[in-house]
Amino acid sequence: MLLNIDSLMPQALEVAAQTGRAPALQYLMENGTYFSDMVTSFPAMSVTIDSSLLTGTYADQHRIPGLHWFDTRNKEFINYGTGFRETFRIGMRRSIHNMLYRLNHEHLSNDVTTIYEDLAKKGISSASINSFVYRGNKAQRLKTPKFLSSFTQFENGEWVANVPSIFSLGAFSKIRPRGLPTEIAAGNYKYVAKELRYLIRRKKLPGFTFCIFQDMDLRIHFKGPMDLKLILKIDREIQKIFNMYTSWDEAISKNIWMVIGDNGHSATGTNHRKYVIDLRKTFKKFQIARIQQKVTKKDQIALCVNQRMTLIYLLDQKLSYNELIEQLRKDDRIDVIAWKNGQDIHVVSGVKDGILTFRRNGAFTDVYNQFWSIEGALDILDLRLTNNQFLSYGDYPDALARIYGSLNSHEGRYIIANAKPGYEFKAQSTPNHISGAAHGSLHRQESNVPLIIAGTSDKPEYSRIVDLKEYILSLLQRD
Ligand SMILES: [Zn+2]
Repeated sequence: MLLNIDSLMPQALEVAAQTGRAPALQYLMENGTYFSDMVTSFPAMSVTIDSSLLTGTYADQHRIPGLHWFDTRNKEFINYGTGFRETFRIGMRRSIHNMLYRLNHEHLSNDVTTIYEDLAKKGISSASINSFVYRGNKAQRLKTPKFLSSFTQFENGEWVANVPSIFSLGAFSKIRPRGLPTEIAAGNYKYVAKELRYLIRRKKLPGFTFCIFQDMDLRIHFKGPMDLKLILKIDREIQKIFNMYTSWDEAISKNIWMVIGDNGHSATGTNHRKYVIDLRKTFKKFQIARIQQKVTKKDQIALCVNQRMTLIYLLDQKLSYNELIEQLRKDDRIDVIAWKNGQDIHVVSGVKDGILTFRRNGAFTDVYNQFWSIEGALDILDLRLTNNQFLSYGDYPDALARIYGSLNSHEGRYIIANAKPGYEFKAQSTPNHISGAAHGSLHRQESNVPLIIAGTSDKPEYSRIVDLKEYILSLLQRD
């Protein structure tokens, strides 16, 4: 049982649990293993993270580059709904289609398998509750509710999706025949917990269940990272789940329970002019593609902001990376700027001098047993080199593999940039989160998420979200 509490963060979880305000989570922590530093995917946005969690790969393999990216082959902006879980609204016809259909059936690479697909091959059934990344082996006809069908691009509002054995996603597919989802394509924490309790009550729990509680993200964007209210509410729902067993001890002896957060948040400043990096100003010398119209020959660059991370595309073949990097480097609110040159990846910064160059394979080994060749200013990525060419990470956990993943996630000439903690990027009609919190970047503030495992003493090989799939498969194979 894997419960993903969207935006659950280590410090807030620890405070809620150890002060007795979240008894169910406290019980799991005290009777299980707690990790406070699981490394999430990059960019730290839900679609990319859930794809990493379910496929066990970074974006170079699963090929979901972020919530917002540019398909250079078809010259098309791909947006799964900026705000994704937080502002899913009717009226975003293309986003709905991208998110519900293309994400799973076109964009998520067929060269990787999801945990649902792997389990199905072994004859083990699984359930997905409330996740927008859901690809499985079972073809299921989904029907869009009547009032919404004109907003989708499906004939008669119907389409065939490949889903796990048991599939719950808002009004499109429900486990309880009479359940009433709170949103069209999602349910709130109470709805999700009810779907899960129904499976337990009817003794229909499959081998693996993945369940997302998605309400907290929106609240934290406005309230900031230390808000506890929803942790306590979701904890109450987990208590009700545990109370279905004769004792909580029985609950964890019958199932292995894992609770994870998907991304952290970085608190943002209050002054709009200071804390919002308006990329249209940074690149005012260049012609920027408009998101609502077709890209023209005159357009030189395209901008796809993922909150505190951004993708910057060079559409004009005559444009050099240096012309754009020069502008980014002048801004001391930008801490990481990276681009690819053949096999080499270069990293510079608006905060630190020098250049760092790395590539896959080489004489250096990092803490995750990955091999790199690397030279230049290691401090740009806060890398530490101990004896015997051993690399460890500081402020940017697993930075090399995650930057590599992002720069190899799709075709095109593009640069990635990260905002320093407290800041976020803006382009055309990007939502901002001033005086609240935002995520997306490589920084440990949003990269380190908590994980609790109860019901087994086995541990994943490394504390990374990308290693969880193999871990879960190994648990299920054992018995
Ligand atoms: Zn968010």
